[in-house]
Amino acid sequence: MEEKPQVLQPINRLERLGRSNTSQKGGKFSINDFEIGRPLGKGKFGSVYLARTKEGHFHAAIKVLFKSQLISGGVEHQLEREIEIQSHLHHPNIIRLYTYFWDAKKIYLVLEYAPGGEMYKQLTIKEKFSEPIAAKYMYEIADALSYCHRKNVIHRDIKPENLLIGANGELKIGDFGWSVHAPSNKRQTMCGTMDYLPPEMVSGQAHSAAVDLWAIGVLCFEFLVGKPPFERQHQAETYAAIKEAKFTYPEYVKRGPRDLIGKLLQVDPKKRLSLDGVMNHSWILAMIETRQKAEKQQQLEKTASLRNH
Ligand code: AMP
Repeated sequence: MEEKPQVLQPINRLERLGRSNTSQKGGKFSINDFEIGRPLGKGKFGSVYLARTKEGHFHAAIKVLFKSQLISGGVEHQLEREIEIQSHLHHPNIIRLYTYFWDAKKIYLVLEYAPGGEMYKQLTIKEKFSEPIAAKYMYEIADALSYCHRKNVIHRDIKPENLLIGANGELKIGDFGWSVHAPSNKRQTMCGTMDYLPPEMVSGQAHSAAVDLWAIGVLCFEFLVGKPPFERQHQAETYAAIKEAKFTYPEYVKRGPRDLIGKLLQVDPKKRLSLDGVMNHSWILAMIETRQKAEKQQQLEKTASLRNH
């Protein structure tokens, strides 16, 4: 049976989409409490804007969803569940959902603002990431997912399109789980494949938290190579390759990352490396050390040059 992400604690429920909550007790905010800035992006059911509170000038990203579109898409209950989940996740590598409110036509989600923008865009610009950057992101996503899994929350849709970058260059899982039910069609329109699906989902079998382990294996490959391992011309070929975990590495992918990816891309979900195993993998640790050393060196050089002036 499919393992359902647990709803952690009920919060004010979005039961009556037809009503406005701005006048209700407990509805702390309304759109009038915010100054709305530039658009940050567009999703399937609405747009995201940079915003700040009129009082205190606190920055946030506000996602504006149209009730009519949610209802015609049949996803209003899904949204409610995802809001309940995301609002209880507090982790440095997960976008916080601070609050939400609604009026007659729209629902507003007040989210932590990720100034670095979309991971997908960064990857497109850079084509691929260096080993230290990829390893750092892998550590961060494993840490975030480990936190989620401890709370019985499975993401099920990890891919660069669902990741954002924070103020300090850190990875942030955005839009928690919601994208499972309202898939962004960026990748589908690009190549018509579902590159991150694990073998158990492709075969229509039961799935567990191990789906996220498979997905971060695909992600690590894409970070280092610039495209996912099972990308093929036809969807049927992709699915066949996924079922057998059949893929090849470009020559430049070194032994360390190959070892990690290979241990995650296991057809048998039980054989996949654990999230702890990812965070303690020798390549991840070595790359993090390399990065820290380089940063320390840069800092020393900066201090020395300041002293010399
Ligand atoms: P979504 O509806 O979640 O797919 O969001 C549409 C687009 O808005 C994303 O692709 C991002 O470019 C942008 N966006 C969404 N959430 C945030 C956020 N918290 N911080 C910055 N940009 C965001």
